[in-house]
Amino acid sequence: MPSPFDAHLDPVDANYQPLTPLTFLRRSAAVFPDKTAIIHGDWRCNYRDFYARSRQLASALKQRGVGKGDTVSVMAANIPPLLEAHYGVPMIGAVLNALNTRLDPAAIAFILEHADTKILFTDKGFSAAMKEALALTKATPTVIDIDDPLAESGELLGDEDYEAFIAAGDPKFDWQYPDDEWEALALNYTSGTTGNPKGVVFHHRGAYLNALGSVLSFRYDADTTYLWTLPMFHCNGWTHTWGLSVVGGTHVCLRQIDPPLIFDLIDRHKVTHMSGAPIVLNMLIHAPEGAKRSFAHGPVDIATGGAAPPSAVIAGMENMGFKVKHLYGLTESYGPSTECVWQDDWDDLSFDEQVGKVARQGVNVVTMHEQRVVNPDTLEEVPADAETVGEIVLRGNTIMKGYLKNKSATQEAFDGGWFHTGDLAVLHPDGYAEIKDRAKDIIISGGENISSLEVEEVLFRHPDIMEAAVVAMPHDKWGETPCAFVTTVSKGADLSAADVIAYCRDNLAHYKCPTKIVFGELPKTSTGKIQKFVLRDRAKES
Ligand code: ADP
Repeated sequence: MPSPFDAHLDPVDANYQPLTPLTFLRRSAAVFPDKTAIIHGDWRCNYRDFYARSRQLASALKQRGVGKGDTVSVMAANIPPLLEAHYGVPMIGAVLNALNTRLDPAAIAFILEHADTKILFTDKGFSAAMKEALALTKATPTVIDIDDPLAESGELLGDEDYEAFIAAGDPKFDWQYPDDEWEALALNYTSGTTGNPKGVVFHHRGAYLNALGSVLSFRYDADTTYLWTLPMFHCNGWTHTWGLSVVGGTHVCLRQIDPPLIFDLIDRHKVTHMSGAPIVLNMLIHAPEGAKRSFAHGPVDIATGGAAPPSAVIAGMENMGFKVKHLYGLTESYGPSTECVWQDDWDDLSFDEQVGKVARQGVNVVTMHEQRVVNPDTLEEVPADAETVGEIVLRGNTIMKGYLKNKSATQEAFDGGWFHTGDLAVLHPDGYAEIKDRAKDIIISGGENISSLEVEEVLFRHPDIMEAAVVAMPHDKWGETPCAFVTTVSKGADLSAADVIAYCRDNLAHYKCPTKIVFGELPKTSTGKIQKFVLRDRAKES
């Protein structure tokens, strides 16, 4: 017998609509039409116009024959047209591919071809790489220039200008919701540290949920002013590109990480929230003293993730008047899957103990169904003993659809019904996960696992060290030993390798101490992550 709860109770239009973040902007335009939605230099745009410009973009794209399932790529800094693309492109069922602005021309060429880009919007500031990429790629997109007034240099590559392009569109364009919330919304390529980048496909449902989850986690409201220190191309700015519109918050655009400008904008616009990789935080900490400000409008919330923030970095930010929230996640999880939720009893801890708590990655965000730390072979959960290392696996509605045109990688990532992050962690007795390393970064010396993060944590605490990265170096006797790459602060120019090794021996078990120290700048990915594979090669050569 069918249950009475099923009879005549099928979903119908009145009670079942596809979840999509596009509804957020429509609502904010109706509820907060005159509120400032976007600030870019001296340019301001309210929610009425943000919505109208996005509809114009959708309409103009449609006039050019772009439609469902077509890819529209955007190569741009954190500027208004990229925000508009987050709405205008999916309003006609097309898929937004926000390109990583620091990619090399060959990688961009690969992506344009792999994504089969129909239209490319390109910011003048990135014309050098883009010109080369267009010469290399087999893709033949229509190229439209974004002549951003704040771009310092660059040339125009296409035949049309963005403003003229959208001016041809209808600001009242009757755009459509997706037919299905599972439809592709965005395509984001991972940084491709091993081989070609993989195209992570987001659906409307996941972006909707993740954006709402961010609002809950960060407590965004109509008074939120968000400074874009996080690249919008990075998992669509962890979905804040859509999340801010839920509450009618204000986006403050930023072309590049420029610490004095950042302090100035925080002060000028009374910024309440921002986010960024630990490297961004470190740049603020090491900004010239004269550029730093204290903010009368209260502590600024800064969310950090994308790499493990050493506790010295968390402490440095808190001491400057920021409140640090630690997040962990991947492009495959729309950005944050995990957050270090503050517990009331941490209020009573010492500052150092608090920082130690916050340095852990934590628990699943509200919109992530489940997170476990498991033995990767058996998928059995590891004990919550803060010692047994396992892999973080995730399951839920804010996990990607899969990798574009890559069935085997998709199947491998979802093996056993979980998304495998490749990150190794321990579980603390309070249920908080703490990452020890990426599986490929762990150092195995004489059969013992050494967490590169643990060694870096100690190095970051040295007053003369600004940045550090530790990788495995081949060793005849031990198999591998740690090799540390270090950047010093300006007053640390005299620091010697012997000093650093001696310091490590005072603060770490001896088998974990680096046996070699290399001074100099660290190679980084476009999202500010240290490229350990480059360092591993260097360590091998040295
Ligand atoms: P890519 O894989 O291209 O570098 P992602 O942004 O998807 O780009 O990177 C996700 C990875 O970044 C995670 O698998 C993890 O190794 C690392 N990561 C992200 N957040 C944290 C964090 N809070 N602590 C430690 N590692 C992190």
